[in-house]
Amino acid sequence: MSASNFVTSAVIQHLYIHVPFCAHLCPYCGFFKTRNVPAETRGFVPALLAELRWARANFDVRPLTVYFGGGTPTALSVSQLEELFAGWPWPLTAREFTVEANPLTVSARKAAVLRAAGVNRVSLGAQAFDAASLRLLGRRHDADGVRATVAVLRAAGFDNLNLDLMYALPGQTFAQWASSLSAAVALAPEHLSAYNLSYEEDTEFFRRFIVSGGGADTDREREFFLRTTAHLARHGYAQYEISNFARAGRESAHNRAYWRGEDYLGCGPGACSTVGLQRWQNLADNRRYIEALTVTGAPPRDIEPLTVKMKTAEKIMLGLRTREGVPLTLLTDQPDALENLIREGLLTVSGDRAALTLAGRLVTDSVAELLMG
Ligand code: SF4
Repeated sequence: MSASNFVTSAVIQHLYIHVPFCAHLCPYCGFFKTRNVPAETRGFVPALLAELRWARANFDVRPLTVYFGGGTPTALSVSQLEELFAGWPWPLTAREFTVEANPLTVSARKAAVLRAAGVNRVSLGAQAFDAASLRLLGRRHDADGVRATVAVLRAAGFDNLNLDLMYALPGQTFAQWASSLSAAVALAPEHLSAYNLSYEEDTEFFRRFIVSGGGADTDREREFFLRTTAHLARHGYAQYEISNFARAGRESAHNRAYWRGEDYLGCGPGACSTVGLQRWQNLADNRRYIEALTVTGAPPRDIEPLTVKMKTAEKIMLGLRTREGVPLTLLTDQPDALENLIREGLLTVSGDRAALTLAGRLVTDSVAELLMG
């Protein structure tokens, strides 16, 4: 298919870059990633730049938000990052420019390179602050490593930091989790993401989960969730999505765009994109991704057509996870379900939107199913 087949007149304001390398592979992680050994990383940056040029030639991209995820973007070396920013085909002026980082891979020099390139938000994978939880998760850093990395980032001028945390780990006590939350809050990040541990297929954790009988303890997970929401609310972090909490005005604009169902382009091996009624995923294979871009200048990808119905269902599902909720115009097909859910205290309507109550947030998926018909 020629490049011109993909040209769209819609403006794409959100760009995701997948950097599929990590210094160490965590046993619970289901993202596409490999070790950051030279055999894997060689040729990655030139190939990614070729994909960015392909994107610029085929779409009207004006990045308002940029998000480098992975993997661990900071697993790239300083010179690889410099090469990437030097070849970046748009002005490096995104309003929100986030880079995910791992405590083991941020140096003062790397932080300065990111800052100079216009990165203004860093999302740090802390996960926990107690030694037992970190050991269980197979993380190589400790609590002091997180604190030291936050200090490096603050010294480099970052005033917008997120910390990622995980709860409902096997054997984790509420007291351990409360101490992790307190340690995270003590670092005064502008944003916190707290995820219920999920068992992703093809991970070591999933195998252990199956071997152990594989049943989720929903009462326990619910208790973790409620304690998290209450703890963070007490410290000034408002829950604006099921797993995301922010100081006023520090919500992630990039993630909000996903939850609103806006178009976005994803570049890099394994990255997903959604533009209009097309969704595609780049091949999750570093070698073949690099080869395809070197030979053809276009990313190898699987394209899936979407329908308006599919997109509406997705918008309902994602919107329900957020504080702002779902426009009522998307819910007109299920008036009875809407009325029942309001009567049961699971949903509340304000203006022209419907949003989950706290009780509703405990059963988000069931509510979404009812509203999607
Ligand atoms: S959790 Fe993060 S650091 Fe660990 S393997 Fe996954 S992407 Fe890499």
